[in-house]
Amino acid sequence: MVKLMPIYSSVSARPLGKLREALIREQHNMLRRVLPALYATMIITLIIFSISFESTLPDWFNLYIPVIFFSFMSLRLVYWVRSLIKGPEPDMNIIRRDLRLISWVTPVMALSYSALAILPTTGGDTFQITIAVLVVWCVALITSFSISTLPITSIAVILCATIPISINFALHGNPNLVPLTTVFVSLSLLVIYTNTVTYRTFVETIISQWRLTRKNGVIEGQRAFATRIAYTDTLTGLPNRRSFYDALDDAILQFNLKRTNPFAVAIVDLDGFKPINDVHGHGTGDAVLIEVGERLEESLGDRGMVARLGGDEFAIIANDVINSEDAILLGNKLVESLRPTFEIDMITAHLSGSCGFCLVTEKGAKSSCVLERADLALYKAKSENRGYTEVFTKDMEEKVLQRSMIEQALRIAISNNDIEMQFQPIVDLKSQKIIGMEALARWDHAYLGSVPPSKFIPIAEHSGLISELTENLFRKAVTTAKSWPSDIFLSFNISAGHLTRQNVSMNILSIMLQQNFSPNRLEIEVTETAIMRNMERARATIANFKQAGIRISLDDFGTGYSSMNQVRELPFDKIKIDKSFTDGVCDSERTRNVILSVIGMCKNLNISCLAEGIEREEQRQALIELGCGMGQGYLFGKSMSGEESIELFGIDADVEQKKSA
Ligand code: C2E
Ligand code: CA
Ligand code: CA
Repeated sequence: MVKLMPIYSSVSARPLGKLREALIREQHNMLRRVLPALYATMIITLIIFSISFESTLPDWFNLYIPVIFFSFMSLRLVYWVRSLIKGPEPDMNIIRRDLRLISWVTPVMALSYSALAILPTTGGDTFQITIAVLVVWCVALITSFSISTLPITSIAVILCATIPISINFALHGNPNLVPLTTVFVSLSLLVIYTNTVTYRTFVETIISQWRLTRKNGVIEGQRAFATRIAYTDTLTGLPNRRSFYDALDDAILQFNLKRTNPFAVAIVDLDGFKPINDVHGHGTGDAVLIEVGERLEESLGDRGMVARLGGDEFAIIANDVINSEDAILLGNKLVESLRPTFEIDMITAHLSGSCGFCLVTEKGAKSSCVLERADLALYKAKSENRGYTEVFTKDMEEKVLQRSMIEQALRIAISNNDIEMQFQPIVDLKSQKIIGMEALARWDHAYLGSVPPSKFIPIAEHSGLISELTENLFRKAVTTAKSWPSDIFLSFNISAGHLTRQNVSMNILSIMLQQNFSPNRLEIEVTETAIMRNMERARATIANFKQAGIRISLDDFGTGYSSMNQVRELPFDKIKIDKSFTDGVCDSERTRNVILSVIGMCKNLNISCLAEGIEREEQRQALIELGCGMGQGYLFGKSMSGEESIELFGIDADVEQKKSA
């Protein structure tokens, strides 16, 4: 066993510290680099020796011993050359064995070489002795230098060469050899000293390298941790939006390089998550999101990746989705997985999810475009096929294009105040006398033609233009309504996306006050959808209107989600039965029963009831029979301009307009 340096260099079998291991590996590395050359030099020296002393020495000395040496060193040479060629990281056991072997083989070799040099010279002349010894000593010197990373061995080598030679010189009795011996001894001490210094430097280098590596390792670890955080959704542990974009870019690249089959991207959006969060708190909401992530991952299996884009929106990359049928099948599997109830801390929550797919089947797709398309499909699923899957098609994009064109034009139209108000009569069904007018927006565009409110109102909502539009329209509606007889009320629509915005009631009330319009002549029409979007906000807005003395109508009754309970809860003054019921009042017993029960509820709650979309006299008669008090529809009149409405009431429009101005 070699004790190189007490702390670092023991080649023991006990578990090695990382630093110790690094040191030993580097020692071995150095040896692998120098030993082949060293053995080659020793072999050449041996051959020269044999040839030089061929005539003066017996065969056993000149031939047999060198042949044994030669064979041994050739084997070692081959071994170290192979070790060098094999590569940088041999097994630790091999390293330990190599070092152990070197630690005794090299001094023994040095001893043998010096013996070889000395023995023949006992009978030779001074010149021969000097040359032989010089050569052996030089080889020992080189060896000692070469293995200076094993300090004890390197010292042993120099001693094993120098001591026998010096003793031999001293015994030889030739006074000329005395100074030479002194030189050998001094040089040997110098070599020992320099080797010790070299070894210390070597150790220090290894230590600082090791520290650097460890520091880099820590930095690398910190970097890996930071990367993991940056690419992981902290709540669910799923890949996050950034990670998803990277994966999508990569998937597109692989597909473009024809390394993978067509694939698909899906966005899954939860329906009904917000109420869970609002009612049961964020803790439950978080637990639901975690479970949603797990269920989606389970349904997808090893077909791709699930990421959380944020909020209640998840995204999926699904491999090998070749066509729409595949996508629908997978999409429905994903949304089906969300249907079973979520049992969290004694709370049972129900959810559903809608899924929008975009297939990547053609080269050159862009990730942002793929996601936008999946989002379009999701939008369609949410608006038309809630709880199911839609796959992107080209016509969806055309709709979007058209939508963005409309949005551009709408901005200009709103700022130019180009959108007009028309008014449709609301009548007492029995007398057919006009009792009010509903204001309906009309937009005629030079290129787009007549754009219906059902198209531009949602666009105004989504592009943040709805407040400005509604206020402009309300100003116009009130200006006209002020010219009507004072017993004719104005019914004004507030859209779903607007009712739940802040300040909506304030703004409407301030216009009403500015225009000096009596609140008891005003009705605000709201829809069930608007109320359901944000119950609290809707309730507050409605309360503000009511407090100001404005009446509230529930529009399109029967088409939304509301239940009779909600109608009872909120302070409505009127219910407007949707046209779809009016359409069936003459022909469908079932529809008649529904209308009857709505009318019954209105009577119970002491609120008015109006039927929309009456087009035929028999519908009017049927509704009267059922007990409905008010009506609206083409039978009584289509919507008309402000001037026409004023004329209708037999008032000179010009005079009235001037009066109100
Ligand atoms: P709504 O509030 O239910 O308005 C009634 C719609 O039915 C109007 O269509 C009206 O022209 C139409 N209508 C009335 N009687 C009949 C009938 O007998 N037969 C048929 N086939 N249709 C009839 P319009 O003006 O296209 O409005 C559609 C929807 O757009 C409205 O439904 C309302 O929800 C919305 N809207 C219209 N104007 C405004 C507005 O100024 N603000 C807001 N927020 N929404 C508006
Ligand atoms: Ca309406
Ligand atoms: Ca309606």
